[in-house]
Amino acid sequence: MAGPNEDQITQALKRVRDPASGQNVVEAGLISGLTLRNNHVSFTVEVPAARGPASEPLRKACEEAVNGVPGILSVTAVLTAHRERNTPPQGQGHGHKHGHGHDANAPVTRETGVPGVRSIIAVASGKGGVGKSTVAVNLALALSALGNKVGLLDADIYGPSVPRLLDIREKPETDGKKLKPIERFGLKAMSIGFLVDQDTPMIWRGPMVMSALTQMLTDVAWAPLDILVVDMPPGTGDAQLTLAQRVPLAGAVIVSTPQDLALIDARKGLAMFRKTEVPVLGIIENMSLFICPTCGTEHHIFGHGGARATAAELDCEFLGEIPLLPAIRETSDAGMPIVATRPHSPEAHAFLTLAKRVAAKLETSARPAPKIVIE
Ligand code: ADP
Repeated sequence: MAGPNEDQITQALKRVRDPASGQNVVEAGLISGLTLRNNHVSFTVEVPAARGPASEPLRKACEEAVNGVPGILSVTAVLTAHRERNTPPQGQGHGHKHGHGHDANAPVTRETGVPGVRSIIAVASGKGGVGKSTVAVNLALALSALGNKVGLLDADIYGPSVPRLLDIREKPETDGKKLKPIERFGLKAMSIGFLVDQDTPMIWRGPMVMSALTQMLTDVAWAPLDILVVDMPPGTGDAQLTLAQRVPLAGAVIVSTPQDLALIDARKGLAMFRKTEVPVLGIIENMSLFICPTCGTEHHIFGHGGARATAAELDCEFLGEIPLLPAIRETSDAGMPIVATRPHSPEAHAFLTLAKRVAAKLETSARPAPKIVIE
């Protein structure tokens, strides 16, 4: 017996009236992303941000209407509160090219979030070279190993490292509307390094940075994701501050080495996120101690415990420590991150422990990603 088809679903949806426009929800352009697979249906009900919370009954009505189509096994209707602008009907008006004429203010706001992405977390550091990107990649992989759908956005446009860390050399494809993230080890990844020649020096001015980054959030087919990990540019300058203000972050983790200097920088990072009201999920101490591969003795090359002490002092959680290990450097530099390629190693274990804490913190302390209802 032939199952239900998309036309029947659209017809069912046309019987649902959008109270704001008086039209049916299909004509009002509120339905997008309709997919029908093995008699399971999913779609998005997109409403302007201001109507977000009040639109739950509308979402339910859409779901019930489709549920009534004979042969349908399940319906998932997701409510997304769309940014305020003239929302084009599905498939129109969203295919602007990378690189010019883009209004950096329009696409994402802290209020609307990125549709289909549950939580966005930033991995930040007060300065470069502390292993932020290495931690970001392995943390993302560990969160994925815990059963989450995870994306990795390399926002370090000055020195993108995700192409190297995941050994990605191809260019992302586009479907005419959105760029497809490149998948590696189960992660969806996007980096400015995939789009531009890595040997070409680039000069980025502030607005260009934001424009590139908002495009990497909104013009990339991320959804559906549980967690999007953003590898932030190192430091606490203007670009970082704007990012922290503009990207709808559910929380941030700060990577630091035990050295005093790095810790001073970590404090700046912490202050920056607090200023922008982004919850800091905690501090991670990277390269915390060196365990001699031959004799097994622990050496505290950069000192030890500084991040834990700073975290306590600053009333911020200490999320854990990652030892300085040649295997981490070698696998990172070879594009074979240790969590993916040696999942049973003690190093991978350290990242998994970290990921569990981050996931738990996200559940409890971070504000929920706004106005997206999934049932
Ligand atoms: P950042 O993003 O902070 O600039 P990277 O992640 O690029 O830093 O790391 C800098 C260097 O340190 C890289 O060569 C990386 O492989 C190495 N590295 C990072 N963390 C560790 C670690 N825990 N043990 C050994 N090497 C590490």
